[in-house]
Amino acid sequence: MNLLKLSGIKSLILDMDGVLWRESAPIGDLSHIFQKIKQLNLKVVLATNNATRTPRQYVEKLAGFGVEVTEDQVINSSMGVAYLLSKRFPDGGSVYVVGESGLTQALEDAGFHQSEENCLAVVVSMDRNINFEKMKKATLLIRSGVPFYGTNPDRTYPTPRGLIPGAGAIIGAIEIATDVAPIIAGKPSPTLYEFALERLGTTPQETLIVGDRLETDVTGGQRLGCPTALVLSGIATREQAEKHQPAIDFIVPTLGDLVNLFNDR
Ligand SMILES: [Mg+2]
Repeated sequence: MNLLKLSGIKSLILDMDGVLWRESAPIGDLSHIFQKIKQLNLKVVLATNNATRTPRQYVEKLAGFGVEVTEDQVINSSMGVAYLLSKRFPDGGSVYVVGESGLTQALEDAGFHQSEENCLAVVVSMDRNINFEKMKKATLLIRSGVPFYGTNPDRTYPTPRGLIPGAGAIIGAIEIATDVAPIIAGKPSPTLYEFALERLGTTPQETLIVGDRLETDVTGGQRLGCPTALVLSGIATREQAEKHQPAIDFIVPTLGDLVNLFNDR
């Protein structure tokens, strides 16, 4: 463990599924962990690839575990795609959306409304009401030259019954129909973390990325030059984590164990 690296850390970007909870079960005493984070003067942003929920829903879920965070501390890949679009189209405009209310809300907040006329972009995400008509419209627009954006590349989503199709499965179907690779906002693209750093006001070197997936959380953080921590309370195993290149800075059983390391810095 590289304790020296912890001395310069001023903020944390935390993944949620597999780091804070599994399904509805919290991982450790979250209220106590977040109190310690506060005592250590660490700023926190919670960043998830899940595009369907709004920040308010996460604030409420955390409140149920005795953790107080504000909506501006939560970002998801819908907000990431809105952030990308705002940089490219600062005046906003119309976009064609295949997705759910979490995505349309984030786009509206950034000045983009839903319309097939004068479309600036096609934005695709998890859509539990996906149908052929929506896929057809998206395909025709992208084939006519409209830029293609996707929220997050996750192919599957874990449920108690097993893995079900994720946003990546829907985005992938449209990619196959169009022969166009989408611009993706979610991890491992650095967009979501760049957006988080803007909110935190810290540099990559001062910001520790904490996640449970190697191919998204860790890879995304490493691409941006952030130190990374992997918790073993979610998807990746210690064996997989130790093989990962470049090496991960901290491999710990849970977020609580990571926060305890700060005591020794
Ligand atoms: Mg996770």
